[in-house]
Amino acid sequence: MTPVFTEQLVSLMLEHISHTENGIAALDANDRFIFFNPAFTAMFGIADYLTLGHSFDDMLTRMFSHGVGTNCKSSTLPEWLAYVHSQYRKKPFRSFEVDLVNGRWLLMTEQVNENGEVVLVGNDITRAKQAEQALKAAKEILKQQALTDELTGISNRRHFMQLVHYEYNRARRYDSRISLAILDIDYFKKINDNLGHPVGDEVIRHFATLLQQQLRKQDAVGRLGGEEFALLLPETTEAEAAVMIERIIKQLKQTQLDHIVPGLSYTFSAGVAELKLTSAASIDSWVSIADQALYQAKTGGRDRVEIYQAKGK
Ligand code: GH3
Ligand code: MG
Ligand code: MG
Repeated sequence: MTPVFTEQLVSLMLEHISHTENGIAALDANDRFIFFNPAFTAMFGIADYLTLGHSFDDMLTRMFSHGVGTNCKSSTLPEWLAYVHSQYRKKPFRSFEVDLVNGRWLLMTEQVNENGEVVLVGNDITRAKQAEQALKAAKEILKQQALTDELTGISNRRHFMQLVHYEYNRARRYDSRISLAILDIDYFKKINDNLGHPVGDEVIRHFATLLQQQLRKQDAVGRLGGEEFALLLPETTEAEAAVMIERIIKQLKQTQLDHIVPGLSYTFSAGVAELKLTSAASIDSWVSIADQALYQAKTGGRDRVEIYQAKGK
């Protein structure tokens, strides 16, 4: 049934329009305001300015120069006007979100009829927007937590292995050199047994910080689990990686750990494997070779770094 615009209905609609919290305005074909309700001027902070006959650009100019209403991202007025006019009146109907300088959010609709007259309606959607942003922030935190080791704040095994996959593919594509090192604290069980688990945790944290301090921009560090860590060293040969780890071993020996427990010291062993770009070189075999090098460092006496040596060499 098509509505009949009786006098009663028209007066009811007008009453609604003047009292609703939705901002409503209309402009003629010359882009002059022919109507606006109090909610419209209130939401844009221009209640003391806008009068019928003002143009849409007058409204934009007022908001820009007085820092009210729309939070405009442009640094100059002409730039902002150009941006708005790249979208304004370009379609019979559009809806878009607007954020205001007072932190509130509006969902605007713009309806342009064949005569060139425009009706603008603004809805305050701040609560929904805040909920959306809180959800986005929570998701970001969850994502971060899923990739971060809780004890040390560095990459966990999952994240580290993602980086290994990424760099492995890159190295294959560009035929570049890259090394992987696995590092494991020596006799860590004794630290736990003799000094307690919380001290063990402190030592793990200390080692993570030490590794982070020694990294170059392109390197990555991860905690694989327990007291086992790994370094991913792009553009680095196994010999260069070994030199870098020797430096960390020296650095650790010169480090005072009295703030954890007076007289405390610890050492670590490391195995290094450079990615050999033969067709058979898989990520698994690369990791396994670094692991075997670590085993060689452990059996060779600990407190050292070893590059994997095939048996019989
Ligand atoms: P090795 O020199 O051969 O590496 O000997 P190790 O004692 O360091 O190695 P082992 O693997 O026997 O012991 C590792 C210990 O690490 C056993 C485990 O209880 C402990 N551990 C694993 N995760 C954590 C942790 O998050 N915190 C603490 N404090 N201890 C942990
Ligand atoms: Mg150990
Ligand atoms: Mg271990």
